[in-house]
Amino acid sequence: MLYTSTRDQSVRVSSAEAIARGLSAEGGLFVPLSIPALGEELLRELTGADYVTRAAKVLSLYLTDFTEEELRDYASKAYGGGKFSHPDTAPLVKLSTGEQILELWHGPTSAFKDMALQMLPHLLTGAVVKTGEQKKVVILTATSGDTGKAALEGFMDVEGTEIIVFYPSDGVSPMQKRQMITQEGKNVFVSGIQGNFDDAQTGVKRIFTDPAMKEKLADSNMMFSSANSINWGRLVPQIVYYISAYCDLLAEGTLSMGDPIDVVVPTGNFGNILSAYYAMRMGLPVRRLVCASNANNVLTDFIETGVYDKNRSFYHTLSPSMDILVSSNLERLLYHLTDGDAGQVSDWMGQLGKTGRYQVTDGVRDKISALFAAGYCDDEQTQATIRQVWQQQRYLPDTHTAVAIHVCRAYRGEGQEVPVVLASTASPYKFAKSVLEAVSDTALPEGDEFAVTEQLAVETEIEIPLPLRGLGEKTVRFDGVCDKEDMSQVVLKYLGIEK
Ligand SMILES: *Cc1c(COP(=O)(O)O)cnc(C)c1O
Repeated sequence: MLYTSTRDQSVRVSSAEAIARGLSAEGGLFVPLSIPALGEELLRELTGADYVTRAAKVLSLYLTDFTEEELRDYASKAYGGGKFSHPDTAPLVKLSTGEQILELWHGPTSAFKDMALQMLPHLLTGAVVKTGEQKKVVILTATSGDTGKAALEGFMDVEGTEIIVFYPSDGVSPMQKRQMITQEGKNVFVSGIQGNFDDAQTGVKRIFTDPAMKEKLADSNMMFSSANSINWGRLVPQIVYYISAYCDLLAEGTLSMGDPIDVVVPTGNFGNILSAYYAMRMGLPVRRLVCASNANNVLTDFIETGVYDKNRSFYHTLSPSMDILVSSNLERLLYHLTDGDAGQVSDWMGQLGKTGRYQVTDGVRDKISALFAAGYCDDEQTQATIRQVWQQQRYLPDTHTAVAIHVCRAYRGEGQEVPVVLASTASPYKFAKSVLEAVSDTALPEGDEFAVTEQLAVETEIEIPLPLRGLGEKTVRFDGVCDKEDMSQVVLKYLGIEK
């Protein structure tokens, strides 16, 4: 199967090249030229299979440069071997009100990024070898919290890679910081920077595009790459769990083959819900894709009106992983809905860059209305939802999942004729303070993030995930903070290229 670019129809690359390169030269994103069909027979076969088998099979439909054995090996390294604390990897939990909660956070960092970032290192190193490169891959990441930790866990001790993460020293939560500075592994490096997330991001981009840096790395037989969500290798592993959820519902008899479901996804960069769209295009019976946003509701407006306009206030919300005004993966959806009109997509992206706004054609808007529904949820509603779901269903959602539950209920009302699968993207313990505030009537405990975590465990009797539990006792390995001007030096020094 070949891939092209959302901004240049003449581009043709293999799946391995798409993953190894990350971004097309003219700035577009790689997309498959055709979308493989799932078919009832395959769906039936997968229904009897475990998660690793489901993943290997679905990946093999898109990543045709890899053998099924290779993909099975990667999948068992990513999802088997105790990396995920739940035997089903991505289990469904049914609420008494009917919603099927697809828990995507049983991986090593307790957020859904693990579903893709446990797989990406294997895909990326495999892809680099297949494209004939022999260099060591240096993954550079700037993070505001979740992605950095998930990338560190994914690339830890992966042969032929080094991973370096920069985080804003005062811009991440105490729990997120602790997760990163205690990271184990012999190929990892973490540094704080004096500045905010934008400074970290800008610094990383500067290093990426600096020809002198590129040359210095090449002289040492190394090359930079990115674990960012624009990489096609991060989207395919996410298609798997929507198909897997449908198989689980078939297996338990909730669905008969061909019965439709609704899918609700708490959305930021549009990567997770786009993966659900690919599953639908492959033939998974989905009635509606419901896009749930927080107060940063640029996508809600877009889906309802066809106008994308990022000229609006930016809010720091209780669901910070969805605090985003430019959803980069939307570009891929536009490519598919214009039947591959890369010129049109480039034009809209150009307008977005210049004016912060674009308006799609009526035809595209109508297609969006037929496929998607959208809604949003403010912080007050988020906390009210956590409290209500906890009190009435004894289920404890994190803030992002709560946004999805609120939007799901507003959209579907009492109607339960079509089952709904709702993506749950983080453990409630990852956002323990907001969750405890929502469910508890007593004052928050004094002390650090761990005191809050303990208190939440006492009040709910829900186990703290193992990876978060031991954090307080783990040795701090990376207490360095650098000036944002010194990031290149820090990279070269860690790689042993310069003293
Ligand atoms: C990244 C993230 C999201 C948003 O996912 P997108 O693919 O960017 O839409 C939602 N919830 C959590 C907890 C996340 O970490």
